[in-house]
Amino acid sequence: MPELPEMQALAERLEESFVGAALVKIDALGFSSLKTVTPPPEALIGSHLTAVTRRAKYLRFVTDGPVALMLHLSQAGRLDIEIPPKRTKAKGAAVRFHFDDDRAIFVREYGHERKVAWWVLDADDVGPVAGLGPEPDSDEFETLILTSGDKRRIHTLLRDQRTVAGIGRGYVNDALHRAHISPYTTMAKLDPDARRRLVDAVRLTMDEALASERQRRGGLSEAKLGERFRVHNRHGLPCPECETPMRRVSFESHEITYCPTCQTGGKVLADRRMSRLVK
Ligand SMILES: [Zn+2]
Repeated sequence: MPELPEMQALAERLEESFVGAALVKIDALGFSSLKTVTPPPEALIGSHLTAVTRRAKYLRFVTDGPVALMLHLSQAGRLDIEIPPKRTKAKGAAVRFHFDDDRAIFVREYGHERKVAWWVLDADDVGPVAGLGPEPDSDEFETLILTSGDKRRIHTLLRDQRTVAGIGRGYVNDALHRAHISPYTTMAKLDPDARRRLVDAVRLTMDEALASERQRRGGLSEAKLGERFRVHNRHGLPCPECETPMRRVSFESHEITYCPTCQTGGKVLADRRMSRLVK
């Protein structure tokens, strides 16, 4: 599942590789992932890419024409560069953007979710990123964490894109572990030291992930980079700091991984899935 570091490094690679190329054809494939009606996708044809930027987990393809393209891969989306473009329509195929230099950007989705989305927007329309929270590397983020009295669970708050953009359900586990903060505490309960640790931990976690992602080449299906996470999805394994077996709490859409010794004062958080199994 691509998160902010993956999308940032991908934007950098696409910009380096595709700026100057002209869009010549768009094949909407398989399922409808286009979220806009006007302007029409045809308005992109003939435009040259001038930049590829990222905001939260959205990519924006800026052109020298009247419109821009935005893309969101969601949880199971993948983007690949095809040289030359393939003619096959792979399972889960969403859209293929053809360029004038015999290359294509191909977007597909694995599994049954159909949440990959793209938008064709007037150049001055920010589109789906309107209303998103600050990025982790911004001053606004730091101010938020140092001053917020929010009473939601901190794990929930950090995953809420309208509060903080781009951390996601994997890196939130790593950042809270690194800061030695319980996923169930709230901003209102954090002392100044813990707030400072949280700012630093989030940024260090995202910076390390970005440095790792910058070693990748091509699209997102290329060679694996090894384990991305320090604690996320690693329940049952020893904590990287104290070797206590890490625990988890499972939810419908995500999982909390944490170390009881480092984060919750030894307390094991109730796991509803586990209690269902025990019944
Ligand atoms: Zn630990």
